[in-house]
Amino acid sequence: MLSLGRNPGEYLVIGEDIVIQVVSMEGDLRLSIDAPKNVSIVRGEVYEKYHEKPECREQSITLIKVYAKDISRQCSRCSAPGHQEKGSFCCPACGFHADIKTNAAQNAKKRGRAKAQINEGNGPALILPEGLSQSS
Ligand SMILES: [Zn+2]
Repeated sequence: MLSLGRNPGEYLVIGEDIVIQVVSMEGDLRLSIDAPKNVSIVRGEVYEKYHEKPECREQSITLIKVYAKDISRQCSRCSAPGHQEKGSFCCPACGFHADIKTNAAQNAKKRGRAKAQINEGNGPALILPEGLSQSS
């Protein structure tokens, strides 16, 4: 991916007919894009709803979004509801203990694998709870 610094008023030209101009950097960054009508322009978050993230495509990673409800409250070993206390998850049903984030990550992995029916040897997959970004 190309990353360029630009100041307000400066612009980039993509191909022969796409121009992206920085309009303002006060508060929100404002861009002006001039492209042919047959070129779709959408916000990244809208694009990602319907397509794989560009970084995933570049690295041949399959993006799998999973249902996030109760992902940190459900036991990743037996699926029973558990308790959270001081960063730890505890399952009263099977006695499983883990870090809250580790338990949630294991649930995300289980849900992702169930959704995609992928096995260990089928290549990399990035599994994200829906409504959460990678940085959260
Ligand atoms: Zn359990």
